[in-house]
Amino acid sequence: MNDEKLRYFKQYQELFGNEVFLSIGQQGPNINSQDKREILKKRSTDLISYNNEIKNCLKCELGSTRNNFVFGVGDPKASLMLVGEAPGEQEDLKGEPFVGRAGKLLDQMLSAINRSREKDVFICNVLKCRPPDNRDPSKNEIEKCEPYLVNQIDLIQPKLIVALGRVAGKTLLSVDKSLKDMRNIIHNYHGTDLIVTYHPAALLRNSNWKPDAWKDFKWIRSLIDK
Ligand code: URA
Repeated sequence: MNDEKLRYFKQYQELFGNEVFLSIGQQGPNINSQDKREILKKRSTDLISYNNEIKNCLKCELGSTRNNFVFGVGDPKASLMLVGEAPGEQEDLKGEPFVGRAGKLLDQMLSAINRSREKDVFICNVLKCRPPDNRDPSKNEIEKCEPYLVNQIDLIQPKLIVALGRVAGKTLLSVDKSLKDMRNIIHNYHGTDLIVTYHPAALLRNSNWKPDAWKDFKWIRSLIDK
């Protein structure tokens, strides 16, 4: 086994123990590669234009305190869309979601299901700007910002949306429930399946939750590979 593979398996084992999840074949709609290229090009230019259209947003007070508008990153034709609550300090400085320690863990979990932030995944947040001191999003901020997320979903057309953490889950589902009460259920968000799992920062704080998070990621994989 070469060094790269060995590193991958070590990282995987650290995260998820000895359980291995294998993919058996990849199924997809039967469209030819020229059509696929056209769809990808169109979605990608549409997403870039949409970012340009909204990136100077001043609809709520966060517009004047942000360093960067954090639109989101990833594959414009992703089947999996991950949605956190709002950018943190590092995300605000870099203009990219989940770039801190929690983001690194998220990258490892994606790699364990054979995905990455460039490959079949789009990552963003409910709020595109950082709330000062990382406080929870306010009702007004959600009202102003959530339509941007709905439009992103319309452009990307993911198969599955995964809300990362209780705050993202309860915001998108408009309910005041615990994570436990929202997990393990396929919800619907504007016509797209949505599930709720742990926020990676919560997994860094409490590694006892990692096995359950791994179960969720295997489920996610089976839902998007279906
Ligand atoms: N937490 C979030 O919910 N989103 C980020 O982008 C980073 C941390």
